[in-house]
Amino acid sequence: MTLHVAIIGGGASGTLAAAHLLRRRSSPERLRITLVESREDVGCGIAYSTDQSSHLLNTRVHNMSAFPEEPEHFARWLERQGLSSGGGLEFVPRKVYGRYLTELIAAEPNASAVPRLRIVKQECTGLRPHEHGVEVALSDGTVLPSHFAILATGYCRDGRHEPGLDDPWSRPEKHDLAAPVVLVGTGLTMVDMVMSLLDSGQSGPIYALSRRGLLPQPHRVTKPLKLSTADIPIGTSLAYMMHWLRSTIRSHETAGGNWRDIIDGLRPHTQMLWRHLPHESRGRFLRHASSLWDTHRHRMPPASADRIADAQASGLLRIIRGHFQEAHRTAHGTNITYRPSGSREPLVLEASHAIDCRGFGRLSLPTKNRLIQSLLDDGLARVDTLKLGLDFDKHDALVDANGCSTARVFGIGPITRGSHWEITAVPDIREQAARLAELLLGTPGLNESAPRRETN
Ligand SMILES: Cc1cc2nc3c(=O)[nH]c(=O)nc-3n(C[C@H](O)[C@H](O)[C@H](O)COP(=O)(O)OP(=O)(O)OC[C@H]3O[C@@H](n4cnc5c(N)ncnc54)[C@H](O)[C@@H]3O)c2cc1C
Repeated sequence: MTLHVAIIGGGASGTLAAAHLLRRRSSPERLRITLVESREDVGCGIAYSTDQSSHLLNTRVHNMSAFPEEPEHFARWLERQGLSSGGGLEFVPRKVYGRYLTELIAAEPNASAVPRLRIVKQECTGLRPHEHGVEVALSDGTVLPSHFAILATGYCRDGRHEPGLDDPWSRPEKHDLAAPVVLVGTGLTMVDMVMSLLDSGQSGPIYALSRRGLLPQPHRVTKPLKLSTADIPIGTSLAYMMHWLRSTIRSHETAGGNWRDIIDGLRPHTQMLWRHLPHESRGRFLRHASSLWDTHRHRMPPASADRIADAQASGLLRIIRGHFQEAHRTAHGTNITYRPSGSREPLVLEASHAIDCRGFGRLSLPTKNRLIQSLLDDGLARVDTLKLGLDFDKHDALVDANGCSTARVFGIGPITRGSHWEITAVPDIREQAARLAELLLGTPGLNESAPRRETN
């Protein structure tokens, strides 16, 4: 029997899902994948579509293989392109990684008369799961029958932005390089925008504004501490967890180690930690600790850190601690009103333009993603309790409005953030892709009839 899988979304997550399915089922006549993507570029998604060489991966080459069981896969691909030099420790441009992902699904090792992978450049507008499979509705009215569907729709950005703030991922308009620019947010998106501004010759001040003014920490070579689940206080409150983390870091540093060894040592356990964190603690983490965690966990490459430090030292880049209040377009540019930390009096920054660098935050509803909205409207999906994405069970099966696992529709990548939290970086997504491929291909009879509906 041929297994048909429809993957909705051809960014990094959808591409990794396809690559893992293709790799696991070698018999060409037994697998058909349809990858549905509404954009022209397939494989790159939002993260790897940039054409700027200074937008670097924030993960070293040796951690970016598409396949966890073959950690050298990306490094060897780079060597074949004549691009490698750092023994896996380097940070290459994200556009190069986009090419790697694109080739991953373009170059099928077992090419046959009927290709196992078909790319359909259309929007998926709805899914209708039934006992034996799922119908996938496309914007041209076509309905594709398949056994399973995988939602790889990313963060569900819908182009809605704070009025007055520019989208960091749309092509910037030409501006007066001597005029000030405001970046709202001081995370990795801000780092990208500073790189772009420096590349374009910006000479006017760059103001970067966030509540705590925290910048991503720079990468150093680390020796991740080997932690077992027994070492970690799983299931405790956020307060206890933070206390444990601080004291573990303190004793490690006293013994001559580096805090990064602990943060990286926690990496294999973070999803389990999140799942066992009491619900109330998860909310508190998002409100109070996530920005501190992110700046330590998602670090910037040393080359970017050096340019940021130079720009700060020269006064070109100025970090402001304060609460963003509003952006207001004027005849000459954009005015940003903010309240400096520790003050009640708002101040105004006048800039040529201001860019929204605050990241993805929570799912805003109603969403312009017609597929996601229709799944919610039809009761086939529900938003996770923290509104980070949709609700999925422990096998990444979509949970419907009644709390039942849908069994025919699965999720991968940031759309499953509510279940896993740390599921945005490739090293985490590729593990999820491997688990999903194993589940869909490995369970005997799974593709012949619908599995029993489980309640969540
Ligand atoms: C700027 C940036 C830099 C990053 N850098 C790194 C890094 O260096 N290292 C690392 O490990 N991780 C990095 N990440 C994180 C990670 O790689 C991303 O989280 C990952 O790219 C998520 O991919 P995705 O496919 O789930 O989402 P997206 O990239 O958002 O792709 C989703 C795709 O689905 C399509 N889609 C959505 N709905 C539909 C529909 N209804 N029909 C058809 N198509 C649809 C969209 O058009 C889109 O192309 C970065 C993330 C960002 C944003």
